[in-house]
Amino acid sequence: MEIKKQLTSQCSIEQFNFNQFQFGVEATDHMLVAKYSEGAWHSAAIQPYENLTLSPLAMCLHYGQTVFEGLKAYRQVDDGVSIFRLDRHHERINQSLRRMAMPEVPKELFENGIKGLVEVEQGWIKEGEGNSLYIRPFVIATEERLGVSISTDYLFVVVCTPMAAYYARPLKVKVERYYTRATSGGVGAAKNGGNYGAAYYPAKLAQQEGFDQVIWTDSRDHEYVEESGTMNLMFIIGDKLLTPPAGETILAGVTRDSLLQIARDMGWPVEERPISLVELQEAFEAGKKVEAFGAGTAAVVAPFALIHLDGNDYKPYIADDAKMFQLKAQLTAVRSGKVKDPYAWNTVLEKVLTK
Ligand SMILES: *Cc1c(COP(=O)(O)O)cnc(C)c1O
Repeated sequence: MEIKKQLTSQCSIEQFNFNQFQFGVEATDHMLVAKYSEGAWHSAAIQPYENLTLSPLAMCLHYGQTVFEGLKAYRQVDDGVSIFRLDRHHERINQSLRRMAMPEVPKELFENGIKGLVEVEQGWIKEGEGNSLYIRPFVIATEERLGVSISTDYLFVVVCTPMAAYYARPLKVKVERYYTRATSGGVGAAKNGGNYGAAYYPAKLAQQEGFDQVIWTDSRDHEYVEESGTMNLMFIIGDKLLTPPAGETILAGVTRDSLLQIARDMGWPVEERPISLVELQEAFEAGKKVEAFGAGTAAVVAPFALIHLDGNDYKPYIADDAKMFQLKAQLTAVRSGKVKDPYAWNTVLEKVLTK
């Protein structure tokens, strides 16, 4: 599929203050847009960033047929630019799209479109560890119709925003024993916009109690931990890395998968299995060293400083020598090309000199 390229002469990058900005508020100068109608994707273009025009009858505004992804491009130690696990994010957007009865995005459109866009926007990735370009692909239903039916028309859009090295402030989290993020048979395994909207209220209640986020538990008994906020959940107890299995109610995070692979390759014992609140409580009460953290593309590793569980406050280990930081450092090294990338996770762009 041909992807047209139309560049703007009015770039905002020169005026952008890279020393002080909020994540996700300002987009870069270009975006990728493709349309789907009459059963096919077409009209793909990398074009100047601009507002979308939608009919008030556009179905995405009413019935929630929306899916998104989140991935990053990094500057390599040799000054090149790489996109992290592009193929895995492509597989996952299609898994999400299938669950939402939306058309899959072809591999060439997703991969070549994002590579082309990042090539154009690579100036937004400043040198220095942790600086990156956050890439947000999404698909929305655009058919103009209030009748409840599967949309016939869609828009695939990719926008980018710069991201600074980000200090992951240790979080205080509360184990949620009533509200539910996902149920078996539901849409928890899809990156569907509605999952996030539905999670705001329980998070808001937790914030009113002084916590940053919730730890979600299984919808049936609320006895097993699942995720935290919009991150996967991991523990290191003793020497073992523990995480509940990805599946219908636990989204298959790319960061989660990458950290597990790296831990296994460093020879750490890794267990993917259900983790009960009782097991966690016993580990804390037995005085074991417990590390707890969230894993996701945005923060990569977000350490937990406090876990509130049924009236008790437990304090995971977060000192500088915690093993989770070793894991994060190894992932950062693979991503930046500082150490070899044996997994072919990095899509390294050819150096282009058109800037
Ligand atoms: C996106 C997401 C994650 C993290 O996935 P990554 O691929 O690591 O960014 C975890 N849980 C939920 C619910 C998510 O939507």
